[in-house]
Amino acid sequence: MNTFTYEAVPMRVVFGAGSLDRLPQEAERLHLHRPLVLSTPGQRDLAERAAALLGDSCAGVFAEARMHVPADVAAKALEVARDVAADGCVAVGGGSTIGLGKAIALKSGLPVISAPTTYAGSEMTPIWGLTENGRKQTGRDRSVLPRSVVYDPELTLRLPVDVSVTSGFNAIAHAVEALYAPDASPIVSLMAEEGVRSLATALPALTADPHDLDARTAALRGAWLCGSCLGATTMSLHHKLCHILGGTFDLPHAPVHTVLLPYVASFNLPTAPAAERVLRRALATDDVPGHLARVATQLGAPRSLDELGLTENDLTEVIAQAQRRPYANPRPVSADDVRAILTDALRGTLAP
Ligand code: NAD
Repeated sequence: MNTFTYEAVPMRVVFGAGSLDRLPQEAERLHLHRPLVLSTPGQRDLAERAAALLGDSCAGVFAEARMHVPADVAAKALEVARDVAADGCVAVGGGSTIGLGKAIALKSGLPVISAPTTYAGSEMTPIWGLTENGRKQTGRDRSVLPRSVVYDPELTLRLPVDVSVTSGFNAIAHAVEALYAPDASPIVSLMAEEGVRSLATALPALTADPHDLDARTAALRGAWLCGSCLGATTMSLHHKLCHILGGTFDLPHAPVHTVLLPYVASFNLPTAPAAERVLRRALATDDVPGHLARVATQLGAPRSLDELGLTENDLTEVIAQAQRRPYANPRPVSADDVRAILTDALRGTLAP
């Protein structure tokens, strides 16, 4: 990789156990005087805690974020933000909540602070997504990039182990596809290798003890690095298929990434030897796809797309959508290739 272009994504990160307490200073730094706190219904308590930290200046809590940012939820959140005269948003949660903050930013220009509580990595990217009529639309816009990211590993201590594992694999998937991206670069490779290594070590440890703060810290650091890879590069076949499976079939985002990754890696890595070398080092294995499938299964992740609710009859629609528009990939992908990958993932052929 001797010729490349790398564009740094401007990002402020506040990292460390207890750093949620620094929210007021981060809001002050951005001159936010009426931030609206966002969360999912399940994380309302945490949103209320963030609102209390922000004190009287907080404009309120909107706790209706949902997976894949349905357009009606985004429209309602924007209306609430306008009604309460919010001058920014504080997104406390996973990719769904941060995605809602981005949707508001896209329409209004309001700045977003995020405090991630999963490993999805959305906080590190200028990528937004909106789902309407069964289609998920995504785009890149610098205005949606959070202005400040508060990574507090204590916020992840209550993330259920099953969600932690699949969310961790979601992060690993960003690094895998960044390594063979058309805009890969040496700095992205460094982040990807360390991100994968961090998560590969942390996930078994936090599965054994979900309250292991060192493991949670390592996992969140890995998620930060992998999210940075996602923000810096163009994703390929794996993300394309996950996007369709989530947007059209409403399959859960992180579990889909976890199940599908070994199959796409098995298809792509033989034509991306440099990427494969990095992953072999990071995972300490000679069989990257098999290792990913084995570890995910050992840590209790779903084994197949069938388990997630996809059926053989759905494949034709997934393939049609995948072939409709061109996308980056290290090797050409035919409709038959997509069918073969999906059929294997549907049956879980690599899972022990
Ligand atoms: P999520 O945000 O939907 O969270 C999953 C569930 O876990 C939710 O019910 C949430 O309330 C709960 N939860 C989250 N953190 C918790 C915690 N610490 N403790 C207890 N419960 C917790 O899931 P996700 O996988 O983080 O995000 C998925 C969404 O993010 C998808 O829509 C995906 O497309 C999007 N995404 C976007 C980008 C991007 O760059 N734009 C990147 C990754 C993911």
